[in-house]
Amino acid sequence: MCNGGLDVKGANFVLKGIAMPSKRVLVTGAGGFIGHHLVAFLKKRGYWVRGVDTKNTMYSPSEADELKLLDLRRWESCLEATKDIEEVYALAADMGGMGFISGHHAQILHNNALINIHTLEAAHNNGVERLLYTSSACVYPEHLQTDAQVTPLREEVAYPAAPQDAYGWEKLITERLCIHYREDYGLETRIVRFHNIFGPLGTWTGGREKAPAALCRKVAVAKLAKTGVVEIWGDGEQTRSFCYIDDCTDGLFRLMRSDHAEPLNLGQDRMISIRELANLISGIAGIEITIKHVDGPQGVRGRNSDNSKLRNLLGWEPQISLEGGLSKTYAWIESQVRQKLDEGVSPETLARGELGETESAQQVAQPKVMV
Ligand code: NAD
Repeated sequence: MCNGGLDVKGANFVLKGIAMPSKRVLVTGAGGFIGHHLVAFLKKRGYWVRGVDTKNTMYSPSEADELKLLDLRRWESCLEATKDIEEVYALAADMGGMGFISGHHAQILHNNALINIHTLEAAHNNGVERLLYTSSACVYPEHLQTDAQVTPLREEVAYPAAPQDAYGWEKLITERLCIHYREDYGLETRIVRFHNIFGPLGTWTGGREKAPAALCRKVAVAKLAKTGVVEIWGDGEQTRSFCYIDDCTDGLFRLMRSDHAEPLNLGQDRMISIRELANLISGIAGIEITIKHVDGPQGVRGRNSDNSKLRNLLGWEPQISLEGGLSKTYAWIESQVRQKLDEGVSPETLARGELGETESAQQVAQPKVMV
């Protein structure tokens, strides 16, 4: 049901004296990290929001007007999800951090190709006006990212294509699909390339977590269990930039409202090494740590966002400092770790991230779907 307004496609309604848009918006992947925050962001702006995922939100209830549990690898699910919808934010994906995407190529390419091919075609069938697709910095060629002091990546350098993983190839294919659906069918598509989004309420254990969440968890265990030791994968000199979730939702909304149809970077352009990131987090936690280097997938050696186009086209760029975003994220993850320790989970299990967080989603994601 429409929340506080008319359940009529395209109509406006009045909230506390302000005319608000009543557009009917779909967020796929609404049970996940960015999708959950995006639903809340859109609700604050007066949109009627349908969320779709294979699982419910993990840490706080979704603010969506309607939350449907659907497997978007299936054509009928995509038709149901996009029915009577004007704008789609397409976030659903079988994904995770480097530990996950470097080891599940067939599963990722299979599942995400099905999700995106069906979502786009169903959106077109159902007369959706706009669709924003969430791509990734993983589309950029591996050979441009071999140095920790990497040249920031401009959107144009994605071609000639040579992404590192199946995850990146699938993103690139769906980018092309979005461009062709716009050119051939008039579906207004937008394409964002995220550079490492982080924040509270994201995956922090179980194998799909990304570097900022994993390091916050390890530092929290080192602090609360008084071990003082934090393991990092490789020599820690690999570099990335990290963008806080509130900037991400803001940027997504600005891009959706813009008339820019080509892929656009969305991230911070302050690059730091994984070792520096671990030290920053331990400073926030207020502890001294000993870093232990262990084997593990590291991804490309260096990666940073070139934000020239973002600044020029949107007249905006991410505003929130890494320290500010990490403080909020660390506080939330420390509270999660404390709770698990109180429940009797061992510090070793927590430090290794072996505590399964999203079994239900992973179970759904495993079986092959042939449609
Ligand atoms: P997430 O894993 O938290 O959310 C993705 C959601 O998609 C999950 O809740 C999952 O259950 C859902 N999903 C998976 N398979 C599905 C299916 N068959 N049907 C319906 N839902 C399904 O990830 P996130 O960090 O919120 O990422 C959102 C989007 O942004 C993804 O497309 C991701 O590839 C992209 N992205 C994220 C980052 C980042 O740093 N977080 C970076 C680059 C790109």
